[in-house]
Amino acid sequence: MTIFSKIINGEIPCNKVLENDHFLAFHDINPKAPIHILIIPKIEYKNFQETDPAIMGEMTTFIQTVAKLMGLDEGGYRLITNNGSDGGQEVFHLHFHLLGGAKLSWNHLSDSDSKNFI
Ligand code: 5GP
Repeated sequence: MTIFSKIINGEIPCNKVLENDHFLAFHDINPKAPIHILIIPKIEYKNFQETDPAIMGEMTTFIQTVAKLMGLDEGGYRLITNNGSDGGQEVFHLHFHLLGGAKLSWNHLSDSDSKNFI
């Protein structure tokens, strides 16, 4: 069981943004932008490559709703999914990173300091 499954079943707390029967959005514990939300399906897919494409429609709508809720829909945001070890994936439960709240540059993807994005 991944750490994100433990967050889903309440074993580990999270700072929740939005939840429905199929998806959960919560703040990343180590934000890499002023706003950094993780969006996950409740079903555990290892990563994007292993994901059933059938969930992506509903997941897209959920991500769009989270972006709007966070006030990012007008100004913009970055959506990332790291896939596998070469992609920098650390938690093997499909998740999208929703990053925003500043003008994001393209060359700080390995920098953990959110201030460096501004
Ligand atoms: P990955 O590198 O797999 O794409 O991203 C995993 C993300 O999960 C990282 O940005 C990391 O900060 C975040 N993360 C890891 N453990 C926890 C946790 O227990 N709670 C929260 N909210 N985020 C976590």
